[in-house]
Amino acid sequence: MNKETTQIVKELLASPQKIVIVGHKNPDGDAVGSCLGLSFFLKSLGHSTTVIMPNDFPDFLKWLPGVDDIIIHERETNKSIAQIKDADIIFTLDFNSLDRIGEMQNVLEESTSKFVMIDHHQQPADYAVATYSDVKMSSTSEMVFHFMDALDQSEKLTKEIAVNLYTGIMTDTGSFRFSSTSPTTHRVAAKLIEAGAESALINQNVYDTNSPERMKLLGVALNNLVILPELHTAYITMTQKELDDHNFKKGDTEGFVNYALSVKGIVFAAIFIENKQESIVKISFRSKDNFSVNDFARNHYSGGGHINAAGGKSSQSLNKTISEFISILPRYKNELTYAS
Ligand code: 5GP
Ligand code: MN
Repeated sequence: MNKETTQIVKELLASPQKIVIVGHKNPDGDAVGSCLGLSFFLKSLGHSTTVIMPNDFPDFLKWLPGVDDIIIHERETNKSIAQIKDADIIFTLDFNSLDRIGEMQNVLEESTSKFVMIDHHQQPADYAVATYSDVKMSSTSEMVFHFMDALDQSEKLTKEIAVNLYTGIMTDTGSFRFSSTSPTTHRVAAKLIEAGAESALINQNVYDTNSPERMKLLGVALNNLVILPELHTAYITMTQKELDDHNFKKGDTEGFVNYALSVKGIVFAAIFIENKQESIVKISFRSKDNFSVNDFARNHYSGGGHINAAGGKSSQSLNKTISEFISILPRYKNELTYAS
């Protein structure tokens, strides 16, 4: 975090404040971990904090320290609005544009509180009085660690903070595999482990809680895998019926797209998931090397994210979405190359 932003934040936090911390819609491990980690930290400085998520998050995150106090805006809308209205400062974490929080967008746009952004996605919007944005960071959770450091408060690192931040870093880096994982990420992880984050236990809690239905659903997903060798592209489709038949729960399809990317020679992978309730097809994109799925998602699917991981949506039917996708791809033939 640069000196100017650090100074602004120091001034904002100079006396006890009422703080609301918000993560993005469909919160993932990094959104939940970074918000909870920051919340424990700010509490230890004497502030009062409330963590609000736009909607529910997967069960494999529901063991995190502090998780029971999270307000889900979709479920407890009045309580959430009251907290936001009462807040002096609103921290927005792991997103950088207010259209990433669904129904909460209006509420935050109307708020007169001061905003602080901590985020690692591309192209940050300009709504905060203090914007700590760094697209090179592995995760927002790693940034919360650096945030504490910038405020000269690293000694406030507790086990509760460490467990949350470690979980966020681990999930956003695919367990330290993606190219966003830097030497510094590993150094931060080491410090979190020293502070009490038990790596093996956290891995188990997050990854070894599969239901039998989810494993069967993965079987369906792998069966639906389509490979386009000429374009070094692979994609997976999931219909609403396939989800319903396997008692789909939030988070069940998380990580499926990585199987498509793991096929030898593939540099671009996508998963298309039908969502009848929202009348959309939700799409996740992943890539290797220089192919920017952030640009691809922004240009064609009103989405965005990072260079190698992004998301978007389509309001067409699943079949139409796929045929359009296939018709767009050849335009990128020169970029979709595999350097073995
Ligand atoms: P996932 O595919 O795991 O849902 O998301 C991959 C990355 O893209 C995450 O960092 C996520 O925050 C971002 N992302 C997912 N969906 C959207 C979207 O609809 N719009 C934008 N701007 N980012 C998204
Ligand atoms: Mn993240």
